[in-house]
Amino acid sequence: MKHNITKSFDFCYGHRVHNQKLNPDYAVDTCLVCRHLHGHQGQVIIKLEADYLTDGMVTDFKHLGWFKKWVDDTLDHKMIMDINDPVISYVYPLITEKRIDDYRSNMFMNDMGSKAFLNLSPSIYESEPLAVQEIYEGLVVVNFVPTSENISAWLYEEVKKKMFPLGVTVTSVEFKETPKTSAIYGL
Ligand code: ZN
Repeated sequence: MKHNITKSFDFCYGHRVHNQKLNPDYAVDTCLVCRHLHGHQGQVIIKLEADYLTDGMVTDFKHLGWFKKWVDDTLDHKMIMDINDPVISYVYPLITEKRIDDYRSNMFMNDMGSKAFLNLSPSIYESEPLAVQEIYEGLVVVNFVPTSENISAWLYEEVKKKMFPLGVTVTSVEFKETPKTSAIYGL
């Protein structure tokens, strides 16, 4: 038998699933609405487990305080865009083809091909009008299509990496894009 605890977190974000395809026999309508730029109120549910308790706990719930701050700083009210999205340089013209190549190689080098993200350096947009700066401040570039499945896997890896030194096992990370849909990644 094992002990499990869960804690949930919320954030608002925008994205698009640029490679959405539908089978008309199953989808009924074939409008590729996920290809539109659109937003969600996402919910993350982290599940931790332990074989035995320490001071009556798997770990203190407050040991996920860092994740709340990370989510607030990194994802809340941000647009999550895949570096391989064919419209990224149309929507964000400062992301030139040269920069796309640099970002791709940076994200690959830093994370050895796994899921990675970056925020643009302010030096790229700080000379632009304030309204334009705000748009770029709100951008998170990732190296994967930002589906629920990929977001849950990405967040799982981030949480696992951070919780490892505490000796806490991360069982799973569930990501709910809407109240009716959910993707779970984990053990
Ligand atoms: Zn969506």
